[in-house]
Amino acid sequence: MEQHPKDRGGVSVAIVGAGIVGCAMALTLAAEGHQVTVFDPDAPGAGTSSGNAGAIVTGSVTPTATPAVLKALPSYLLDRNSPAVLRLRHAPRVVPWLLRFIRAGAPAEVERIAAALSPLVSRSLEAHRALAALAGVEEMITQEGWLKVYSNEAEFAATALDRHLMDRHGVNYRILDRKEVTDLEPNLDPALCTIGLHQPESGFVRFPQGLAQAYFDAAARRGALHLRQKVRSVSRRPGGVTVHAEGGAKEFDRLVICAGAWSALLARMLGDRVSLDTERGYHIAFGSGTASLMRGPVVFPALSLVLSPMHDGIRLVSGDELAGLTAPPNYRRIRALVPQAYRALPALREVAPATEWMGFRPSTPDSLPVIGPSVHGTEVIHAYGHGHLGLTLSAVTARMVADALAGRPATFDPTPYLAARF
Ligand SMILES: Cc1cc2nc3c(=O)[nH]c(=O)nc-3n(C[C@H](O)[C@H](O)[C@H](O)COP(=O)(O)OP(=O)(O)OC[C@H]3O[C@@H](n4cnc5c(N)ncnc54)[C@H](O)[C@@H]3O)c2cc1C
Repeated sequence: MEQHPKDRGGVSVAIVGAGIVGCAMALTLAAEGHQVTVFDPDAPGAGTSSGNAGAIVTGSVTPTATPAVLKALPSYLLDRNSPAVLRLRHAPRVVPWLLRFIRAGAPAEVERIAAALSPLVSRSLEAHRALAALAGVEEMITQEGWLKVYSNEAEFAATALDRHLMDRHGVNYRILDRKEVTDLEPNLDPALCTIGLHQPESGFVRFPQGLAQAYFDAAARRGALHLRQKVRSVSRRPGGVTVHAEGGAKEFDRLVICAGAWSALLARMLGDRVSLDTERGYHIAFGSGTASLMRGPVVFPALSLVLSPMHDGIRLVSGDELAGLTAPPNYRRIRALVPQAYRALPALREVAPATEWMGFRPSTPDSLPVIGPSVHGTEVIHAYGHGHLGLTLSAVTARMVADALAGRPATFDPTPYLAARF
């Protein structure tokens, strides 16, 4: 007779959200013998988790708020062509988040946040590899590394803080000259590649939605269910939680909130106030025939764009828009970057853009995710707010939650990620 998960130490767990975080969570918890039910009206990984640049950035220890970004903040409000933008209609609602963002950009805070990002990002590729092995899709994760290119010394010098933080946290990177950059990526315009910085240990996923789906399928083979229902509300009851979804109310021992940018609404219903907004981001894809023009993702900091060779072709990825969850997309800025993409990758010039996309990064003002138990009890667990690093951090987040559920000691200090910090 099949052993009930509870007899194996497992519990019934509701996961809200089937993005990459929810799917990594579902597989990790199902593999540990928990009875997993995922709620999401959409297919696994179909939303924000489908359109990213595919990078598992093991050396990303610089938070979004830095002294340099704070200095540029006024231009985000006033410059119509800035790739980062605050839409005025959203401005009043985002003020408390922005005030925290400004505090997070102070030099001492930047150091503290980098120290808290380091144990997460440094374990991220290894945690994904373990999940991909469980799912039997090891080939979906490769290791092209993370390459940044600079067209002159001044651009490179402007990113000294990145190198200071990487040095402090033992991130492995190499500084490349023009020839070394174009040896790695022969199709880039050499004029833009005077200096390169390569983090060889970073991973790459050409088909992020496919990876989320593969994680969920492997969870389903271990008994996990996907209910294609929106969760309307959540509440506590003695010994667990009740999830009120479109299909009715269901009781669980535990609830893990993985609803990306929508998570704060659910957290608030359970008494936890978190500071979460969305930094909306965009991509334009050029069609699957173009993917072979590049080896891996390349960041052009001065052009504010990333080019990434994905399953649907080269993706031009950019944009950081504070405009909330309901305003319609505005593709004007990303379209304006197409000539820059042609400049960076001249072989792309013959190719017209094929598709446009917008997604909702779930962002905290301190660039740290929200991971761990609710302030009001361990039956509710937060797992969201990964901002620019949700693909990177999904597997390591799931591992932290699984450790907590199993009562295993934490591998590193979980305090910086708790909801209680807000
Ligand atoms: C342009 C761009 C480029 C990026 N590049 C990278 C990159 O290279 N590397 C990286 O690591 N990260 C990157 N990111 C960030 C990354 O994509 C996100 O952090 C990540 O996808 C968030 O995953 P998630 O599972 O938390 O949220 P989502 O993918 O948004 O999933 C949340 C899910 O919750 C569901 N949901 C919400 N509310 C409810 C409810 N009430 N009931 C049921 N379901 C609900 C939604 O339908 C959704 O499917 C990028 C993001 C953008 C926008």
